[in-house]
Amino acid sequence: MKKATRQSTKEHNRDLVLKLLFDHDTISRAEIARITGLTRTTVSDVIANQIAEGLVEEVGVGASIGGKNPILLSLVADSRYLIGLNLAHDQFCGAIVNLRGDVKDMVCHPVPGRNREHALASVYEILDALVAKPWKPLVGIGIGTPGLVNTREGMVVSAVNLDWKDLPLAHLLEERYRLPVYVLNDSQAAAIGEYVYGLGGQSSGHLIVINVGHGIGAGILINGRLFQGDGGGAGEIGHVVVQEDGQLCRCGKRGCLETLASARAVVQRYGALVPVTGTPDQTDGSDPVTLDALVDAFRRGDPVATQVVIEAGRSLGSAVASLVGTLNIHKIILTGEMTRFGQPWLEAVSGRMRQAALSKMAEDTRVEVGALDVRGCILGASASMLLDSFSLLYNQP
Ligand SMILES: [Zn+2]
Repeated sequence: MKKATRQSTKEHNRDLVLKLLFDHDTISRAEIARITGLTRTTVSDVIANQIAEGLVEEVGVGASIGGKNPILLSLVADSRYLIGLNLAHDQFCGAIVNLRGDVKDMVCHPVPGRNREHALASVYEILDALVAKPWKPLVGIGIGTPGLVNTREGMVVSAVNLDWKDLPLAHLLEERYRLPVYVLNDSQAAAIGEYVYGLGGQSSGHLIVINVGHGIGAGILINGRLFQGDGGGAGEIGHVVVQEDGQLCRCGKRGCLETLASARAVVQRYGALVPVTGTPDQTDGSDPVTLDALVDAFRRGDPVATQVVIEAGRSLGSAVASLVGTLNIHKIILTGEMTRFGQPWLEAVSGRMRQAALSKMAEDTRVEVGALDVRGCILGASASMLLDSFSLLYNQP
């Protein structure tokens, strides 16, 4: 019992020190001791161990603040690699990422047909290609998938688009690749990406990232940790009904937020309002309006496109106001395809939020567009494995 306690204290100190090395480009032992409150001896022991593990290196000397110049330490960015996957788009993408979030290699694969086996085969294909690359050691695989996920069990509870139901994804991949696997919702992964590598880091530790693409979902970080709720679905705002008897949603209900504010919704709405001007080969029954075409029309100032996009922004703004009222988190980042509509769309979202939320709370809330775009989910999925513990970085060959 005593031994176990000593062991966990040791791990706690180790992670505390490593966290600071992740947060700073360089830092001295003295500074680490000052910030953590650990003794200098403890810090020196921990650092010696991390240097032996190849995780940390001495990179020079810093300016003296009285006494001799301190030796600066830095994380060895390329000492370990992680794999991150984004399964939320028409093609799946995976990347090998180092400890500083630099993408070393990326593999994308279209998903032919939305069925359980095809989707799984595409995941295998990307991972087979990535693990064959020379970046070693690989320490884990993080996956951002659409749908409802039980992260603790590594189970995709339901992902309608991929035809996945109760799929033990982490277990399947751990068996195949002999690496720890972490599965989470794509919007939650994007939130971690923005928090660790994007615009969210300077915040209080609380952050909401709303991913507004073909679907809509949010990721919520509280005190620097992902908040998933009791059932793993915290932030699943896309399928909350906001318009009674509205459009039929792909989830089977009517009037979900997704049917009003997503990229899919604006394309459909625009297609219904403009006369079809497609060429004959576009009249094969497929939707002639694409998101690209709508973005072009919007940028040209087309009044119908403008109306459709601004209305979608305002619908999202109402949902954002509910989040402001529920969580009072001051920093809200928007990502996903709808951010292509730029400042006018962003102003529609935040303008509506300010009208609908309690004034004082709205005043202190900043809504902005994220910095990472599609990379956010990949980077976040890879970083998610390190958010709670650094243990998988240790004892590598
Ligand atoms: Zn729905």
